[in-house]
Amino acid sequence: MARVIVVGAGLGGLPAAYELRHYLGRGHQVTLVSQSPKFTFIPGLVLVALGHIPLERVQLEVATLAKRHGLEWVQGKVERIDPKLQRVYTADRVLDYDYLVIASGSELATDVVPGAGVYSHSICTPSHALAARTAWAEFLEQQGDLVVGALPGAGCFGPAYEFVLMAEAELRRRGIRDKVRITFVTPEPYIGHLGIMGLQNAYELTASLLARRGIYTVTNAEVVEIQPDRVVLADGRTFKFGYSMFLPAFRGAEFVRVSGLGNAKGFLPVLPTMQHQDYSNIYGVGVAVQLDQPDKTPVPIGMPKSGQMTEEMALAAAHNIAVQVGTLPPPFMEPTLEALCFAEYGETGIAYVAAPVMPDPVTGKRRYSFAWQGVWVNWVKAAFERYFLLKMRLGLGLPWFEKLGLQVLFGLSLSRPAVQRPQAQEVIQV
Ligand SMILES: Cc1cc2nc3c(=O)[nH]c(=O)nc-3n(C[C@H](O)[C@H](O)[C@H](O)COP(=O)(O)OP(=O)(O)OC[C@H]3O[C@@H](n4cnc5c(N)ncnc54)[C@H](O)[C@@H]3O)c2cc1C
Repeated sequence: MARVIVVGAGLGGLPAAYELRHYLGRGHQVTLVSQSPKFTFIPGLVLVALGHIPLERVQLEVATLAKRHGLEWVQGKVERIDPKLQRVYTADRVLDYDYLVIASGSELATDVVPGAGVYSHSICTPSHALAARTAWAEFLEQQGDLVVGALPGAGCFGPAYEFVLMAEAELRRRGIRDKVRITFVTPEPYIGHLGIMGLQNAYELTASLLARRGIYTVTNAEVVEIQPDRVVLADGRTFKFGYSMFLPAFRGAEFVRVSGLGNAKGFLPVLPTMQHQDYSNIYGVGVAVQLDQPDKTPVPIGMPKSGQMTEEMALAAAHNIAVQVGTLPPPFMEPTLEALCFAEYGETGIAYVAAPVMPDPVTGKRRYSFAWQGVWVNWVKAAFERYFLLKMRLGLGLPWFEKLGLQVLFGLSLSRPAVQRPQAQEVIQV
């Protein structure tokens, strides 16, 4: 019997555990270890922070899901991994594994900019979104200037655009838009870069929408400090605010760093098969994985790791473990990292497609990329949230009809057979 541990019950970990359960059959053990008792659909946190929906709408109890779908469940924060002894350590448990999937998301590097996370809000975790929501409700009463954006090194920009444009729509709805000056401050070299350079149509659509909504934009912005009432840039410019929301840079989980499994930022270096470059029985999935930003921007930015990319990685990791265990025939699979992202912008939205997100390292080109605008994007996004939560309740990872839909509607493929690599073919004896 193979023992597989999945660390993290988020957008990567839970689908990975379901796919493993499906591929391995009941003769093998799949254990889910996560510090939070709840699964959170993180993309929903923008709406939570703006008070549009309650947090509970985007959360599920992991213990219930695990019991229902045949997963062992351990609630605990992983503190260390010993990859040689093949052990995972939490505060009060030692767990042995034959295969390990690390899907522990990110930690927020707010400490690199003084005042960030103290005087500015973030919406990256459930508790941050709730704090942001309380302050937003107070702001709506008192008003002032609104400054939204991303800090240097951030790789996730979509939620900042969503927040600023939905906040603007809310201010208009309440008839107080003229009382609030709104500034969007980003390290991106241009509006709509999104960490994915050269996304066709993205600049035109996104920049013109911000301009039409009267939002002043600052690009190549290096925020060096956030003071109680203002944001300070490296070039000396300051922007006063009554409310500010900044997405910080991410880094990998502490246990990845202390276990010597990560790069300097604690992200996992993985092969295209999602196997750790030094340990063929350890896999990385989602935000925990190292993806280098190919664009050398004036202010450093990271690489976005979207929900769909995360799911593709989860699918490939589960498939490849099943090949190693012997319940699936070779070949190994690798994620294509082709991705579609729906961004809700008030009365309209923009769907961004990058196929793949990482351009070809030699030609710098993609198969295709595009951005479409319309209110339908918001309907699809709302429907997708419900669909995602439903499939998590039903114990489905990436079902065939979702893959087919993405292929037919958007021309996206999610995984492909991996190029043969000696390390990837190693079979672990269990
Ligand atoms: C505000 C926001 C909005 C977003 N909107 C979109 C969007 O609209 N579309 C899109 O495609 N992507 C979006 N993303 C990106 C998307 O949320 C991520 O790609 C996705 O959540 C990554 O999944 P993950 O499993 O890597 O991490 P997460 O979903 O964050 O899950 C990490 C899991 O690991 C657990 N964990 C962490 N540390 C430990 C530890 N030491 N021990 C045990 N467990 C641990 C956590 O409790 C959690 O269960 C958004 C991101 C943010 C922050």
